[in-house]
Amino acid sequence: MSVLDLARAEIRALQPYSSARMEASGGRLLLNANESAWAPTGDVGTGCNRYPQPQPSALVDVLARLYDVRREQLLVGRGSDEAIDLLVRAFCRAGRDAILIQPPTFGMYAVSARIQDAAVVEVPLRGDFTLDVDAVLAAVTDAVKLVFVCTPNNPAGSVVSRDDIERLVRALDGRALLVVDEAYVEFADEGSVADLLDRHDNLAVLRTLSKAWALAGARIGCLLAHPDVIALLRRIMPPYPLPLPSVDAALLALSGWGQANARAHIDVVRSERARMRAALARLPGVRDVLPSQANFLTVRFDDAEAAYRRLFDAGIVVRDVRRYPGLGDALRITIGAPADNAQVLAVLASSATVRGAA
Ligand SMILES: *Cc1c(COP(=O)(O)O)cnc(C)c1O
Repeated sequence: MSVLDLARAEIRALQPYSSARMEASGGRLLLNANESAWAPTGDVGTGCNRYPQPQPSALVDVLARLYDVRREQLLVGRGSDEAIDLLVRAFCRAGRDAILIQPPTFGMYAVSARIQDAAVVEVPLRGDFTLDVDAVLAAVTDAVKLVFVCTPNNPAGSVVSRDDIERLVRALDGRALLVVDEAYVEFADEGSVADLLDRHDNLAVLRTLSKAWALAGARIGCLLAHPDVIALLRRIMPPYPLPLPSVDAALLALSGWGQANARAHIDVVRSERARMRAALARLPGVRDVLPSQANFLTVRFDDAEAAYRRLFDAGIVVRDVRRYPGLGDALRITIGAPADNAQVLAVLASSATVRGAA
């Protein structure tokens, strides 16, 4: 059995759009795509009179090297959000199939599923935000085509062990695709599970340049998966998904200088995370700071609403995560630059003083 047997038959049979740039590349004089012959004015849009490559080869090369996969195991898209959407559309038949998630978790899996009219099976994380592999496997029905696992977890910051991922992917073989979302893995102690791709055709890994690579505005994310899955998703992807300025920004960020810069910032985030966790835990009104392997801390307060307001009034916006199961008293605070983090501590410390004095 092939992993493609899990995908929608009509997508496998689909005749994809054949763009000018797909049909012919290279050439000396390009008169096949109804583009303008003139470059746009100003140097911002250099090259933008031409349609971009569907999967820009220079970017695919550098990303494949970065993630240590083969080029044909990699799809570049507009953030990992696009990959999530493509997976749901390719694997879930509307009104019939389902995805499986473990709340609290990233919201886009369920949103993409609902847009596709796929059901959402929920198997909550345990009270300590670890994954219950047996409970997940017990909940997998024939309808479940995709199992999303977010590690490090957003919004809890917890991780799923490599052993648990291996157990899951083996047990799901022939039944569902396991999609491991590693949006924050650069900040974690443990590395990626992408090296398991060669052994398991039902594994997919999501990576993004939005967090550790400081490129949220460029919208570049990747799916790493079996070449057949990559080829399938390319059939339903728009013909020219990646804007040229975003590709250029990504190539710069992934240059030798860019990589050194990103690694230095990751080190700062990791040390600030430890410092902030200890400092926040000492503040009155803070019940708990969850251990985090990501670039944020999720903090339980006696009065999360008041803490949110106090920060907001000081001009600091954090994420209210009280709607998530198990986090009814929590705010999620992104680790900023050291001076930003100092401001957060100062505001929360002064609010504790004011309340104490009242
Ligand atoms: C931020 C985030 C993403 C990244 O999305 P992009 O579309 O690549 O910006 C993916 N998954 C999780 C869990 C996230 O928190």
